[in-house]
Amino acid sequence: MIITLKKEAPKQEVAKLINQFEKQGLKVNVITGENYDVFGLVGDTAKLDERKIQANQWVENVQRIAAPYKLANRMFHPEDSIIDVAGIKIGGHEPIVLMAGPCSVENDEMICHIAKEVKDAGAKMLRGGAYKPRTSPYAFQGMGYEGIKCLDHARSETGLPIVTELMSADKIDEFVENVDLIQIGARNMQNFDLLKAVGKINKPILLKRGLSATIEEWIMSAEYIMANGNPNVIMCERGIRTFEKYTRNTLDVSVIPLIKEKTHLPIVIDPSHATGDWKLVEAMSLAAIAAGADGLIIEVHDHPDCALSDGAQSLKPEKFKALVNKAKLVAKAVGREI
Ligand code: PEP
Ligand code: MN
Repeated sequence: MIITLKKEAPKQEVAKLINQFEKQGLKVNVITGENYDVFGLVGDTAKLDERKIQANQWVENVQRIAAPYKLANRMFHPEDSIIDVAGIKIGGHEPIVLMAGPCSVENDEMICHIAKEVKDAGAKMLRGGAYKPRTSPYAFQGMGYEGIKCLDHARSETGLPIVTELMSADKIDEFVENVDLIQIGARNMQNFDLLKAVGKINKPILLKRGLSATIEEWIMSAEYIMANGNPNVIMCERGIRTFEKYTRNTLDVSVIPLIKEKTHLPIVIDPSHATGDWKLVEAMSLAAIAAGADGLIIEVHDHPDCALSDGAQSLKPEKFKALVNKAKLVAKAVGREI
């Protein structure tokens, strides 16, 4: 971290600041310039709050050199993390993992039927929301625990591990007992108490990017989970809010190589929420694979026009199957398998 002091900073205030940093275990290299004194702080600066330092009246400017995250940082963990979800490995050079299923679990028969269809098409994991974060309080809120039981049934019929969203820490025991991959949804990416709570368990977490989150904020949310003891984090890009109205969100494909450069964590792309339009899902899936994604999570429904949520972005099973066949070709072209 580089700290520039104000020209008029009194000597005793400069000494006080040096002392304060040294007490925190940091080495302070002082460069005395003609006009300004500059501190170069060496050591673990991740725990320093630059806004607090900036609040000192003798500080002109604070510049962070190292990223504020440590555990997620590729610099301190050069090899790719490979996350094991009930025996399915995600990340590194492992095969690309396809997760598919409806937005919401609607009943037992429906989820078991779709589970079989997506499995036949090549999916390795079943998605389905039981607790749903809906914009309107009048919209379908999900089946709750009954939905979790339906997912459990679909898993026992097909062998597919299940991924579903946890909205509140009071359901954590239910999820630890029943769910293979716990999704933290976009709306909860900065629900820090929930992040701390899933940090204290050892189930893998699928961490979606917040609606308007910067990449650094998103990585800091992964850091929250990891700093609380759970290293099993998978990042999931699901599109961000922009000015564009022709799509529900804007898929940021550039985060795939960026997340891989900055962190060692796997990244999965959700082209369904990223576009909001089933017609765009295939093209975005292929683009994601070409850019290096470790997995895809895709909404599939037998009757999208009757779906209780997100029908407009849901693929029919036969369209999902066609997508998988093309995805295999793109994966091969970039040296991966599905
Ligand atoms: C979902 O997966 O159904 C969902 C609500 O996702 P997101 O949090 O990305 O909106
Ligand atoms: Mn959805």
